[in-house]
Amino acid sequence: MGAAASITVDDVQKLPQWTILTELDVKLADADKVIPKILNGTVPFRDVDPYVKFGGAYNGDSKDAPDFKYLTFSEPPAFTPAHKSLMAKTLTPELFEKLKDVKSSKGYTLSNAIMTGVVTPHLGVGCTAGDEECWELFQELYYPVIKGWHGYDAATQKHPVDLDPSKLVFSEEQNAKFANYVASTRIRAARNISGFSLPTGATAEDRAGVEKVLVQTFAGLSGELAGTYYELGKLTPEQTQFLLDRGFLFQIPTSRNLLTGAGAARSWPDNRGIFHNETQTALAWVNEEDHCRIISMELGGNIPSVFTRFCDLSNAIKASAEANGTKLMWNDTLGFMGTCPSNLGTGLRASVMVKLEQFNKLMEGDNHEDKELLEQVCAAFDLQPRGSAGEHSAAVGAKFDVSNKQRLGFSEVQLVQKMIDGVSKVIELEELLAAGSTPADIRAKVVELTAATKQ
Ligand code: ADP
Ligand code: MG
Repeated sequence: MGAAASITVDDVQKLPQWTILTELDVKLADADKVIPKILNGTVPFRDVDPYVKFGGAYNGDSKDAPDFKYLTFSEPPAFTPAHKSLMAKTLTPELFEKLKDVKSSKGYTLSNAIMTGVVTPHLGVGCTAGDEECWELFQELYYPVIKGWHGYDAATQKHPVDLDPSKLVFSEEQNAKFANYVASTRIRAARNISGFSLPTGATAEDRAGVEKVLVQTFAGLSGELAGTYYELGKLTPEQTQFLLDRGFLFQIPTSRNLLTGAGAARSWPDNRGIFHNETQTALAWVNEEDHCRIISMELGGNIPSVFTRFCDLSNAIKASAEANGTKLMWNDTLGFMGTCPSNLGTGLRASVMVKLEQFNKLMEGDNHEDKELLEQVCAAFDLQPRGSAGEHSAAVGAKFDVSNKQRLGFSEVQLVQKMIDGVSKVIELEELLAAGSTPADIRAKVVELTAATKQ
């Protein structure tokens, strides 16, 4: 990499990265070290508390860009009680010593892999991969994180694939329930192209190369899937807002997501973009957190229709990558590989926007336990509830985004089936609440229902 130019914290404070990362909610940061003035809001966090307090130095990195500099750790990071991630739990001083000088052939280091989890303590995962080889090289870090997140033992288990939509069971009764309660359905997954660094480790050439392969791929889509690719940097503010309002576009990088601190937002918005078909039911994101996120969505609760289109899109992307002389990152241990350990395996999240007025009333009430009822009910069926505008947002009009929680160790068909069956149960419980059942009745019913499915 040659002699690294010396970069000072002062230099870094002038970069967009600094502005973005220091927007963090200070309440989540290490309370002991946060100066009271920050807590009462009179001094912005960034003026008093540089991020290097958690360790590391700006020593220069071959991937540094004009708008982002990577930290290099020569000693273990100074984790605080605010560091909640599985990475922070896994990275002992011994493991740090063992891996600190390991580097992938594309130049991704342990320092790169852990940076986002060090500078953004609230993250749950806290580490990233910079290319396909990292999944092998940094196994001792990633595998415990994978175990903690998915309950999947990558050392012994194999990941199944099943993209056959005809295997889904969606009964008449379920169909009727979904038609009543579900406003829209979305199924998405991550896909990455072998041979190129992931967005966290990408050079400008990688990003351009990925975009080129994907644009060719999109051009090859036909029939219902045929559509147009829009470069993010060329969208008008009106077009951007249109796409954002409909939940079609990725969020613009903020302090709160993994991608900023991982360097994946370098040179934003270059080579990022969105593809969609004419009816906006098949979409793909380019060079956000992964090379590609494929999305199938439509109004209503016709899960087989959305899953069928998802499988078509997935197959078309695979075939086209292969026709272009490349292949997708995949192996039978980790399934589809990508940037974040939480999106391995199928990388699939199947969600419905479902109207749950009774659960919402409890959530808006004063009883602390009842507020958590939906969360608990969903957890019992391996589901995850989110607000109407994505993770950590509010449920506008009592509409929740409910999806499968697992991604790895189950096939695509199994996960979508788990979502169908779980959401059917959640709707049943919503109906019981409407008919006068109490939260205690619901908890008892959940125990009964989960016991029945385990038999
Ligand atoms: P992901 O991580 O799967 O991309 P996010 O929680 O970041 O999901 O949400 C991305 C966007 O997709 C948000 O705008 C969200 O409202 C939208 N969305 C998620 N599920 C649905 C759905 N079933 N119907 C319509 N929009 C959805
Ligand atoms: Mg997301």
